[in-house]
Amino acid sequence: PASKLPQVGTSIFSVMSQLAQTHGAINLSQGFPDFSCPPELADLVGTYTRNGFNQYAPMTGVAKLRENISRKTQLLYGVAPNPETEITVTSGATEALFCAIAAVVRPGDEVLVIEPAYDSYVPAILLNGGQPVFIPLSFPDYQIDWDLVKTRITPKTRLLLLNSPHNPTGATLSAEDLNNLADIIRDTNIFLIGDEVYEHMVYDGHLHQSLLRRPELAYRSFIISSFGKTYHATGWKVGYCVAPPALTQEFRKIHQYLTFSTITPVQYALTDYLENTEHYLNLPTFYEQKRNLFCSLMDSSRFRIIPSAGTYFQLAHYGHITDEPDVAFARRLTQEIGVAAIPVSVFYHNNQDHKVLRFCFAKNEDTLQQAAEKLCAL
Ligand code: PMP
Ligand code: GLN
Repeated sequence: PASKLPQVGTSIFSVMSQLAQTHGAINLSQGFPDFSCPPELADLVGTYTRNGFNQYAPMTGVAKLRENISRKTQLLYGVAPNPETEITVTSGATEALFCAIAAVVRPGDEVLVIEPAYDSYVPAILLNGGQPVFIPLSFPDYQIDWDLVKTRITPKTRLLLLNSPHNPTGATLSAEDLNNLADIIRDTNIFLIGDEVYEHMVYDGHLHQSLLRRPELAYRSFIISSFGKTYHATGWKVGYCVAPPALTQEFRKIHQYLTFSTITPVQYALTDYLENTEHYLNLPTFYEQKRNLFCSLMDSSRFRIIPSAGTYFQLAHYGHITDEPDVAFARRLTQEIGVAAIPVSVFYHNNQDHKVLRFCFAKNEDTLQQAAEKLCAL
């Protein structure tokens, strides 16, 4: 039978992690920490598991968890979404992204996708009959050209996907970006998805410009986050979506029949752990130190670092080291030098190759030191 996703192969994250394992390379490719989640949080998961919290959670998520998410949102962005009608707990941000896209995209609708783009967006758009319309970020500073966005809007435009802090570039949206966005879509019916899974990883004293801060944007937005990123537990796959009641209602229709509900003991553990604001409030400092360490270690390398403003990713340009395409170079780096990274061309529909690799710095200092030593020897 004809494939519904003929262009889709194995995700680069699986490919590079597998290659790293095969060659015993230090894995700075797929984004995940090599350190543990907070021990108190792990203990809570154990306690709830042992105490019988192992059956289906409510379809919308554990009530107290949704209340605590609302409180966190109030503390950080000054708005408290209604836990009953505006917050849904999902099995990772990936599920939330799919539900939000499926909730609004109809056959023939156009969806604006900023590139480089996280790899789960386009397949979800295509499966729902949508047509991705690609808008490249500027290079090498990776900013959104809002005039260009404006020219890509048509009567068929249904949705715009925004990701800030941005994977893979580490760029963040500014208040000015959100002003431009608001101007451009004011007279349209375009919905927004804010992929904000790295909301707690914004550096250099800047604020995360969540769509939730802007009522004129939030009323038409799905805002998505991931506890996997915030609590160093990417394997748990627990995330959530905040959206106004009418959008949440449609979102839940999909969620109800995609996964129905999300892992119960972890939801209860997160409920308790969220009472402690310290963890996520300290996250910018925690990761900024790692970014600074990695960048300073790489100073003596031949890579040219493109400073990361957010996320736990750091881009590096290598055009003056070799002419190799980035996919080939990333493979060679893994096999011969012993460090795995992600080639950024895979985040473009046309595989645009700017000779840039993405390194994940969510790693112990030792790991970063050993990796940098190898990269500096190149
Ligand atoms: N969006 C972006 C930009 C991501 O980097 C990730 C994690 N790789 C996700 C969504 C998915 O998050 P989760 O693991 O919670 O499904
Ligand atoms: N989001 C992670 C990254 O960008 C990987 C997620 C995955 O492996 N699917 O590296």
